Amino acid sequence: MQYKRSSALFAEAEKVIPGGVNSPVRAFNAVGGTPIFIKKAKGAYLIDEDNNKYIDYINSWGPMILGHAHKPVVDAVIEKTKLGTSFGTPTEIETKIAKLAVSMVPNIDKIRFVNSGTEACMSAVRLARGYTGKDKIIKFAGCYHGHSDSFLIQAGSGAVTFGSPNSPGVTKGTAQDTLLARFNDIKHVESIVEANKNDIACIIIEPVAGNMGCIPPKEIFLQKLRSLCDANNILLIFDEVMTGFRLAKGGAQELFDISADLVCFGKVIGGGLPVGAFAGRAEIMNHLAPLGPVYQAGTLSGNPLAMAAGLAMLTELNEDKGIYKRLAEKTAYLHKGCEDVLNKYKIPHTINRIGSMISIHFSEAEVVDFETAAKGNNDRFKAFFHGMLKEGVYIAPSAFETWFITDALTYEDLDKTIAACNKVCSTL
Ligand code: PMP
Repeated sequence: MQYKRSSALFAEAEKVIPGGVNSPVRAFNAVGGTPIFIKKAKGAYLIDEDNNKYIDYINSWGPMILGHAHKPVVDAVIEKTKLGTSFGTPTEIETKIAKLAVSMVPNIDKIRFVNSGTEACMSAVRLARGYTGKDKIIKFAGCYHGHSDSFLIQAGSGAVTFGSPNSPGVTKGTAQDTLLARFNDIKHVESIVEANKNDIACIIIEPVAGNMGCIPPKEIFLQKLRSLCDANNILLIFDEVMTGFRLAKGGAQELFDISADLVCFGKVIGGGLPVGAFAGRAEIMNHLAPLGPVYQAGTLSGNPLAMAAGLAMLTELNEDKGIYKRLAEKTAYLHKGCEDVLNKYKIPHTINRIGSMISIHFSEAEVVDFETAAKGNNDRFKAFFHGMLKEGVYIAPSAFETWFITDALTYEDLDKTIAACNKVCSTL
């Protein structure tokens, strides 16, 4: 493979875009090398500017659950575009997709659309604070909820402690209101709640973490969180930006049979257009402006093109036709194939999988939280990533990302992926 045109395009991009990219992980900083510029995509494949073809396991970081350029989604957007691209007024399609989403997802009466997962999580937290009248929030180390200030927080010193900013530009004041807990460690969460009694508005969590590789919750962890929230008048927010409409029609709430008070969406809900949303029971959602005092707004929120893409996507997922079963089977097949290869070459690893999310950590220890995820052999991951890329398999350029399986993948694609894994692992 040669990447001449991608390299030239990156050099041009670097002159006018910071780091040459509009979102940092695209820059290959974690794995080294020059990012690949994609020209087009169809089904399970990406084609780059040098006409190299890849089997795609990033899938735009989640949205493309049915494959790239999926015809019903593309057609819906084209048709809508002909009628005008944005009006800044209410449109009928917003209610249509809202009704569909509310019918698919448990425990939500109302939903508000925004333009990204970041906005969804930021707004859900503001609503939780406005609703409860409390300031502090608990998030989990290694969970990502977008780049709004309250979430760009790392652990401060001490066991039960305030967070500190992990990006310049986030103020100490903001960081003080975010408390950091260990994923899958209910005792730790309980101790933080105990030390901050009556101050915590919400606990926000990725019910299946996808931003430290794929890390499913331990059994009863989410149930215990639910009880802890109930006992302390704390809202439980599920950030289902990755898991929503992916792990099941009703997302992680349905899969684990646990109700959240607020749920955040992104990715799949927009069919690949910029959409996020947050949702909950009417009694909470009615605190939003213009009904209630908690302010939240957006010029392009509910944009007709974005809603058309999202509606086409959700409509197909709602019909189901075996999609979720197929996705889980394909993911299990890939898991077994890669596991056999890694065992054959005696490469220490842990594969985590749930539904259509899967990741390989190059570490033998069980991966249950950020600390254990960070124990993976990063040099080995880099070599694996570049090896797979050379073989025409595009996985996320970071060991801390989940792979997303799309229904467009065939078993032939999966076999090719496993064969690529075999070739690469023989050299690791
Ligand atoms: N929450 C989760 C769980 C995410 O994975 C992401 C993005 N990867 C976000 C929030 C932020 O979404 P966006 O990038 O659309 O702002």
